[in-house]
Amino acid sequence: MTLNSIKSTGYEVVFGDASELLIDFLNKNSYSKIFFLVDSNTSEHCYPIIAMNLAGDVEYDIIEIDAGEESKNIDICIGIWKMLLDFGADRKGLMINLGGGVTTDMGSFAAATYKRGIDFLQIPTTLLSQVDASVGGKTGIDIDNIKNIIGTFSNPQKVIIDTAFLETLPKRQLVSGFAEIIKHGLIMDKAYFEKTKAAGIEKIDDELIHRSVEIKNEIVTEDPHEKNIRKKLNFGHTIGHAVESYSLQTDENPLSHGEAIAIGMICESWLSVKHSGLSQEEFKEIYDYILSVYPAYKVNEMAFAEIMAYMKNDKKNESDKINFTLLNSIGTSSINFYCEEDEIVESIKFYNGLI
Ligand code: NAD
Ligand code: ZN
Repeated sequence: MTLNSIKSTGYEVVFGDASELLIDFLNKNSYSKIFFLVDSNTSEHCYPIIAMNLAGDVEYDIIEIDAGEESKNIDICIGIWKMLLDFGADRKGLMINLGGGVTTDMGSFAAATYKRGIDFLQIPTTLLSQVDASVGGKTGIDIDNIKNIIGTFSNPQKVIIDTAFLETLPKRQLVSGFAEIIKHGLIMDKAYFEKTKAAGIEKIDDELIHRSVEIKNEIVTEDPHEKNIRKKLNFGHTIGHAVESYSLQTDENPLSHGEAIAIGMICESWLSVKHSGLSQEEFKEIYDYILSVYPAYKVNEMAFAEIMAYMKNDKKNESDKINFTLLNSIGTSSINFYCEEDEIVESIKFYNGLI
């Protein structure tokens, strides 16, 4: 089945065989030099597939970074800029970011700032980067534990989504990305949520991924700079991010992003019953489903003050109020709710009670 391309602001998201789509793009566009950014895993699992098909046709250089969020920092970024310089990249160069969200976020940041910006393509290879990170024009790097604190809004020339790359992705990474798919259904599309639920993680297919990208794209094209409705994408992330940061700091085997967001979505659905009209019945449907997919993780009740501190420091907040996107029902959501500390704590206690 061929999936239609999705039009975003000034670029397209295309679906299919990455090598074919890339060759097609390169035939239609002329660049002085081409650079692949890969990490140590995508260099092993994804790059050879593309290199095999490009052989002979195109000349290019490769820049490889270590896999993992720890690489998403200014030192590694300087390393990328220096390699571009060494390879003689001019303003007509093209950077191709082949990897998960770390590679696409940092590669696009490096490209957007090198010589005031060179063209780049995103070829996301994790479920999370396909349905979330590679679409929407946010580029960025971290400073210490503060995620994405330095970055730009810059659009790629194209996003190429080839779901065949997911075959080598570890299961835990797949489950992590799945949380964003659940989120897209919850905030925008009830029928899609029900479809996803019926399919489950095992039967996630191209069509479901395509719809998830469509939902994210619909939101970001309407509000590219997160002035209003783009905040809908933060559902589950206010509490989820705080729980994730705490876990990264203290747990030996920390939660993945998606595992933390799954917890955040249950807590923020609890707040939705109180503030935005979510029915008890739909609330139960949401938490029963999420708990059937994600591991039972109890949030440390001794650490509530620390977790609240992470929430207060979140860069999404204006002044010292904690901002939430909440559900009105499954498939509809509203932005800009402010909840009291007590009730946030209560929502996490409710979640803990389910475990
Ligand atoms: P990641 O890039 O670290 O990838 C996860 C792991 O999977 C890594 O070890 C990677 O090497 C490996 N991997 C990637 N593709 C593979 C494949 N096909 N086969 C085997 N292994 C593979 O992380 P991620 O979860 O993709 O993305 C997380 C990042 O995305 C975070 O830094 C987050 O801030 C960012 N993000 C950005 C946006 C945005 O709008 N720009 C949105 C959401 C998340
Ligand atoms: Zn997320």
